[in-house]
Amino acid sequence: MTQLLNIQSKIRDIPDYPKPGILFKDITPLVGDGPAFRATIELLCERVRQRSPELIVGIEARGFIFGAPVAERLGIGFVPARKPGKLPGKRVSESYALEYGTDAIEMHEDAVHGRAVVVVDDLLATGGTAAAAIRLCERLNGRVVGAVFVVELGFLGGRARLGGTHVDALLGYDA
Ligand code: AMP
Repeated sequence: MTQLLNIQSKIRDIPDYPKPGILFKDITPLVGDGPAFRATIELLCERVRQRSPELIVGIEARGFIFGAPVAERLGIGFVPARKPGKLPGKRVSESYALEYGTDAIEMHEDAVHGRAVVVVDDLLATGGTAAAAIRLCERLNGRVVGAVFVVELGFLGGRARLGGTHVDALLGYDA
């Protein structure tokens, strides 16, 4: 609990970024602090381990910061879900709605096949990004056994958009 409070204290609120009305949760002070970063990875590992995945899918870019160390510690593979045009091999793409317009993420088509996956990202807001990552994994015949975040903005209802996926977050904000 004190560890969680310490982690929470290292996440900086930046009002009106990237646009007016958005309170941005900046994780750079958290990952810039060695003990706090390590504690975050340890706590994420506990949550992820409970889902018994064979693979971590991290969402570009902040999902890489948290997902890759978790995968390495658990001794399982890491798969990047990337912004369009970044992956060199044959890939599949899923688009998702933003407040204005759409965005997309991509994975290599041979990245998952049949394995149990936990999706990792820094923050769950409306759930559009994580839902797209889950759809990608399922299209690649993956079994999504969980989605784990450092922060969940519960008031945005993202969890409901992830269907039946088991969702876990270290820190929840209800307002
Ligand atoms: P969403 O698709 O709405 O769940 O948004 C999740 C993605 O957008 C995550 O990859 C976050 O890094 C980023 N994001 C959305 N809202 C915020 C916020 N208030 N503070 C920091 N990152 C955010």
